[in-house]
Amino acid sequence: MNRVANRALDFFFPRRCPVCDGIVPALELKDGMIKAGGYIHRRCHRKIEYIKGSTCAKCGKPLSGDIYREYCGDCIRTSHVFDLGMSVFRYRTVAGSVYRFKYLGRREYADFYAQATRRLLGEKILRLGVEALIPVPMYRDKERLRGYNQASVYAKALSKELDIPAYENVIRRVRNTAPMKELDAAGRRNNLKKAFIIAENDVKFKCILIIDDIYTTGSTIDEIAHEFRVAGVERIYFLTLAIGQTT
Ligand SMILES: [Zn+2]
Ligand SMILES: [Zn+2]
Repeated sequence: MNRVANRALDFFFPRRCPVCDGIVPALELKDGMIKAGGYIHRRCHRKIEYIKGSTCAKCGKPLSGDIYREYCGDCIRTSHVFDLGMSVFRYRTVAGSVYRFKYLGRREYADFYAQATRRLLGEKILRLGVEALIPVPMYRDKERLRGYNQASVYAKALSKELDIPAYENVIRRVRNTAPMKELDAAGRRNNLKKAFIIAENDVKFKCILIIDDIYTTGSTIDEIAHEFRVAGVERIYFLTLAIGQTT
């Protein structure tokens, strides 16, 4: 009954489907019983592709082609600070969804994302011994403007699913870094200045999971991982909602 009661609020604030953005019924009739509705239309769920099959042993990106490879091209060329990464969805199948989650206020999608994450990766995350979920922080002014940090919203929903605490204030973004590709040479040099600082004197974690929405080059995650490495964290993993395929 609890889940049914939880969904009562949906009558006032209808929940939207993370794929088509249409309204998802709060309650459904199943075997003559009223049950809490899902977080996504069943027909829409089929359109999403999960990360499965062979993936890069470092960043977790799906590997293309038939030849056996351990690492993707990026991870062969670049050495990363993080130990291992994993993602839930293939980016091209959730691009619109993640965009609305990030920019159009569709925070409720996080419930579906977190549930899907637990089903796909929950056991693995628990086996790794993760003690803390650390969402990638947003620059303060930017977060104020947008109203929320999507990585935090996802991390908090996941925290409930996995029963692992999420910590939003352990690391702070102290500079508003622009994406590298939009910068000229001088801008790039400037962009390499420290963007994150650990806001607590004493980080006690030995094993953390950094949380973000999309994995691209991994440079932001590496910067954060570096700070935690220096602070003495031994095992640093990351989890993103979506990742593209390697070329
Ligand atoms: Zn739908
Ligand atoms: Zn890789």
